[in-house]
Amino acid sequence: MKQRVVLVLGLFLFIFTFLSFALLAGQNSRIERREEMLFRSREELILAQNRINEEEQRVNTLSREVGRLSGENKAHIILTFDDGPSSITGPILDILEKENIPAVFFINGVNVSAGRVRLIKRAVAEGHIIGNHTYSHDYDRIYRSVDDFMEDFLKNEELIWKWTGTRSMLVRFPGGSRNSLCATEEGRQLMEDLKYEMDRRGYLYMDWNVTDPSNDPQEVLHSLEDQILWRDSATILLHDRGDRAFLVEILPSLIKTLKEEGYEFVLPERFAGAVRF
Ligand SMILES: [Zn+2]
Repeated sequence: MKQRVVLVLGLFLFIFTFLSFALLAGQNSRIERREEMLFRSREELILAQNRINEEEQRVNTLSREVGRLSGENKAHIILTFDDGPSSITGPILDILEKENIPAVFFINGVNVSAGRVRLIKRAVAEGHIIGNHTYSHDYDRIYRSVDDFMEDFLKNEELIWKWTGTRSMLVRFPGGSRNSLCATEEGRQLMEDLKYEMDRRGYLYMDWNVTDPSNDPQEVLHSLEDQILWRDSATILLHDRGDRAFLVEILPSLIKTLKEEGYEFVLPERFAGAVRF
């Protein structure tokens, strides 16, 4: 009798364990199937997003083409050079003069040696705009507080006034209006406060939607063309720095392509045309 009870209990335990395993295995394979389905839908979503992006670029290219063919092309380029003046400012000015196109130079007063003041005067005399990129470009100094920023910024403004006789209302924040500071809550808040301060004082800060990605001339040239050619208009950020001397080599070719594509080089107008992040 006792043996029989043990046998029945054993059998019951065996069946129970077997069923539990079977159930778990079934559940596992269901989960795996679900994961696979989710993965596939994610891939499909990415593919769809890529197709949408491609379509968007195609529509933009077509509308630009229509504008060009109808002679009403509004496509424009705002060319901006940051961090100068430098050893390549003179050669850049030569190219712009030859091509007869205007640009904005967002300068840092700290880079202006006595010899370079004439480059700034020349830029203004030739119709370019000198914009304020802060005096020092030193994140540790300018991005401590609104007051610290304004002190450095106004010092640059005074110098630009002294050198050119014009007050520059165009501003580019070092790193742009959404920069590495925005990784923290305090940094984000400071940038918000600075943007508010700029608006409040009547300055126009501008960012960019195209920039030079590396130090390889051919790579930069191709990348710039790729970034620009599908757009109606672009604000290009290039760096007026000694370590970007190759810009002087590729700039004529870039300008030629953009002119051929029907783009017009313009200066930003007050309260219009400023790309912002
Ligand atoms: Zn800069």
